Amino acid sequence: MLVSAVVIGWLGGLVWALFFVIAVLLYYIYRHLRFMAAMSDWLANSEQASLPPANSDWDEIFYGLERMGRRHKRAMARLMAVLDRFEHAAQAIPDGIVMINDADQIEWFNPVACRHFGLDDKTDRGQFIGYLIRQSVFHDYLSHGDFREALVMKSPVSRDMTLSVQVVAFGERQKMLISRDVTQVEMLESMRRDFVANVSHELRTPLTVVGGFLETFLDTESLSRDDFLRYCDLMQQQTDRMRRLVEDLLTLSRLESPQNRLVETTVDMPLLVRSLYQDAVSLSAGRHPIEMGLESHACVIGNADELASGLGNLVSNAVRYTPPGKAIRLRWGMKSGQLCFSVQDEGEGIEAHHIPRLTERFYRVDRGRSRETGGTGLGLAIAKHVLTRHHARLQIESRIGHGSCFSACFPADRVVADEDCLETSA
Ligand code: ADP
Repeated sequence: MLVSAVVIGWLGGLVWALFFVIAVLLYYIYRHLRFMAAMSDWLANSEQASLPPANSDWDEIFYGLERMGRRHKRAMARLMAVLDRFEHAAQAIPDGIVMINDADQIEWFNPVACRHFGLDDKTDRGQFIGYLIRQSVFHDYLSHGDFREALVMKSPVSRDMTLSVQVVAFGERQKMLISRDVTQVEMLESMRRDFVANVSHELRTPLTVVGGFLETFLDTESLSRDDFLRYCDLMQQQTDRMRRLVEDLLTLSRLESPQNRLVETTVDMPLLVRSLYQDAVSLSAGRHPIEMGLESHACVIGNADELASGLGNLVSNAVRYTPPGKAIRLRWGMKSGQLCFSVQDEGEGIEAHHIPRLTERFYRVDRGRSRETGGTGLGLAIAKHVLTRHHARLQIESRIGHGSCFSACFPADRVVADEDCLETSA
């Protein structure tokens, strides 16, 4: 009896103890579940929510996670800053850059590439590069796979833009397309080619003539003195022509040389205009009535020799292209609010479409007429260069059948007023 009472009491105590242990365990599990739920909420919303309160076990986990989060954020911020810098640098690069993946699809491009290829930031990412740049030369270049040389091609945006395009392969069949606007370089190269061709052509004709006469001298046993003198005269004309051409080429080269800075003084324009008038009179040799109108005594800041050469070309052109008997007028005075030196002639005039091209080297309206009168085709190019160096403008007005007016107009800051001019040029 006593034994059974002890057993029952012991069993009862055991059950209570068991209950107690289960209750403690359930509470423990409940707390962990609560912390887990809090952690899950915090992880889902860790940007805004502050760290949830925790007991010592979870405290460490929460703080550990928060430290990791902070490290991750810092790394992200650094990465974003690097990406930002890269993006800014890529935008500042003067070349176009297009990143292409292994399937030839566009992944990324900078604003210069947009301008070069007409790419659209919103629609063209992920497109095949070959769909957007549809020129066969480009397709051949891309498919050929030999990217050692750059490809020179017209921009798909405008035929006036020439691009040099080079592919740099990297990684797993990825490519970077670099494009550069070489329109200016191409234009200069073509001007250089034209210039060399023109100079060669200009020199070949007189050289052929001189060579022909020399051959005649060698082949002909007895040449009359009259023929000899006539041939010598013709040879001299041709060598004069070559000399003038070489002199004009050297003048142009001097004017273009960056080392040759403009040496400026106060140029007495009335004096220069008088001297140009005298040149016109002697060149015309009585064939034209020539007038001079000095309506201002102002001087200009500039180089007297260069101005004499540039403006002298306008005067000699008027004499050379004006038929005998027709008048020529030289004038220094105000014109449309600026001080201008003008040469007005009553020649045949120039058709409007020639006017914008007259200052190009070797451009002539009538090649025969220019050669006949000893022209090199460089006079107006020299005049334009000289005036540009003086920040002055060459104005050309012409009417067929009425004549032409070539004016060199100086900006106000180059002009020295009459009274000051007398003092400074004295
Ligand atoms: P050129 O040595 O041939 O005269 P320029 O450069 O001086 O070369 O002039 C270019 C062309 O402009 C000339 O060939 C000529 O056709 C035209 N030109 C220049 N001045 C006149 C003018 N006063 N009247 C008519 N044509 C002119």
